[in-house]
Amino acid sequence: MDVVSRCERTQTPANVDIEALRERYRQERDKRVRPEGDNQYIEVSEDFSEFFEVDPYSPAVVRDAIEEDTEVAILGGGFAGLIAGARLKQAGIKDIRIIEMGGDFGGTWYWNRYPGVQCDVDAYCYLPLLEEVGYIPKERYSYGSEIFEHCRRIGHHFGLYDGAMFGTMALSLRWDELIQRWRIKTNHGDDIRARFLVMASGRYNRPKLPGIPGIKDFKNRIFHTARWDYEYTGGDATGELHKLADKRVAIIGTGATAVQVVPFLGQYAKHLHVFQRTPSSVDARGNRNTDPDWVKTLKPGWQAERQKNFNAAIYEMLSPNMPDIVCDGWTELNRNIQAVFADSGNAAPSLDEYMTVREPEDYKVMERIRQRIGSIVDDPETAEKLKPYYRFLCKRPCWNDNYLPTFNRPNVTLVDVSGSRGVERLTEDGIVANGVEYKIDCLVLASGFEIATGLKRRIGIETIEGRGGLSLYDHWAGGPKTLHGLSTHGFPNLFFAGWTQGGVSANVSEMYDNQARHFAYIIKETRARGATTVQPSQEAQDAWVETMQATEVSNKDFLSQCTPGYFNSEGSKVIKDSPLGEVYGPGYQAFVHLIETWRNNGDLNGLILEK
Ligand code: NDP
Repeated sequence: MDVVSRCERTQTPANVDIEALRERYRQERDKRVRPEGDNQYIEVSEDFSEFFEVDPYSPAVVRDAIEEDTEVAILGGGFAGLIAGARLKQAGIKDIRIIEMGGDFGGTWYWNRYPGVQCDVDAYCYLPLLEEVGYIPKERYSYGSEIFEHCRRIGHHFGLYDGAMFGTMALSLRWDELIQRWRIKTNHGDDIRARFLVMASGRYNRPKLPGIPGIKDFKNRIFHTARWDYEYTGGDATGELHKLADKRVAIIGTGATAVQVVPFLGQYAKHLHVFQRTPSSVDARGNRNTDPDWVKTLKPGWQAERQKNFNAAIYEMLSPNMPDIVCDGWTELNRNIQAVFADSGNAAPSLDEYMTVREPEDYKVMERIRQRIGSIVDDPETAEKLKPYYRFLCKRPCWNDNYLPTFNRPNVTLVDVSGSRGVERLTEDGIVANGVEYKIDCLVLASGFEIATGLKRRIGIETIEGRGGLSLYDHWAGGPKTLHGLSTHGFPNLFFAGWTQGGVSANVSEMYDNQARHFAYIIKETRARGATTVQPSQEAQDAWVETMQATEVSNKDFLSQCTPGYFNSEGSKVIKDSPLGEVYGPGYQAFVHLIETWRNNGDLNGLILEK
């Protein structure tokens, strides 16, 4: 497990024709841009709500409406909500309600149970609160069932099950000035009156569907990967999908989800058609069991140290004497860049020098990945279609050892729909692309989530109203306005976990944790000082918005040249809703330092507390 000393730059092709690749990347991008942008996708509401609201994993919750006061309500019981709950409990708050649509904790890891589901980020960094609950992941990249169990472990460890409301969806959130509380109405007719409210629903909670005419006409089985139908396929997340043996299956989408699903569909279906609009970059997985000898070497604080190192290795470049501890595909590009500077004896490259080296190294890494595809996939035409022609991190990179070999199976066909139309339409029992109808029994939609679509589509709650009936959607119509990304003026006692207007970590659980520590501190102090409400002052909020605008290091120029996807508002020239929100320019560690210093000052600077 001690990979530190072995973490070298990767072997990439020595020379690449950058000009030719630039032109190829541009062509591949242009042919995929669709004028409808985000609107090409269908929302999982109204006629399509069954793709979202039906829970295949737990019986429907039937219960009487609850009317009660609670100290803190948390919306969402995934990583963000669980970490918030844990830190609030540690801050001495006992009365916590977690409102969660799923039948258990887990969020993404509750809903996504498709075959092969696995995390792509080093599990020792990614699984939250490992030291607090005393758990070490079994493998370097955990499978979904282990992560789901870990979520449940956190729930038990911190006593969060006591206040959990599963199978419950918030329908409206209104600040009630009379009682100085948030009123949360739910699909069960509940009226929860919460002193403090934490929004922790993440960005992967609402599936989106491909905007293909005829979805409603299709009469055979169709489901989204986040609601896998094991009744239909047989088996479970480890495989054995025996009921597909006589089925013609199609899958739409070749993103991170599909890359994990396709090997299983290929193995078990009678025939599998993979409809690909844009290929993912798929590299070797390199999973391995956790080494017990390595575990024995871990000292208290090891997880935070590892997380910090991982984040720096991706975004901020490690200092020359700092090893790349995680040393995987996420950190490869920066590692290679670092090696170039080490070779030239430049210990402190400027940003310009860094960017100059980054571009050719990026082309080389992607060329290495393309050559690897050519060496695994037998049919040269199929191999060519599977090659990604865009820069690293234009789309979410993937790692899987079984995806590419699946295309060597005689029962698997790749259908290239890379022209801007994508899949054309569905019929009663078929799928039409490039003018050909493919008869199918089952269609799997691996079409992703409302990650970077408009705020209301993403949150999915019709009404969020602060003081004076001000709608959050109107308040933020021109972009978020917050203090530290965590609270907003006019919405007392409301906190946001996620990507709003702050420091962004490559490792989501680390980011949620630093946010949770911060608002847990604010809530604790608000109570300790005998106040009823807390919110940022207008001035403090304006100053933070200004700081963000002044410092934001935008990668929008980079992304606007990328092939379309949720990273770049589907290739739009104006990238409105980045999945990372607005990012604090000086970097994640600088942001963490800033809010820690703010807490250490102890004066709650910029917040208004009212009795
Ligand atoms: P994505 O949004 O990444 O992929 C959606 C796929 O559907 C794309 O391939 C897209 O093509 C395709 N698509 C959409 N509409 C059409 C259409 N009309 N015709 C043909 N194809 C279409 O969703 P995923 O669920 O794969 O992943 C979402 C995110 O979830 C990931 O980026 C990652 O952050 C996270 N995730 C993490 C995992 C992990 O940690 N292991 C595993 C799975 C997901 P196109 O690219 O051309 O738009």
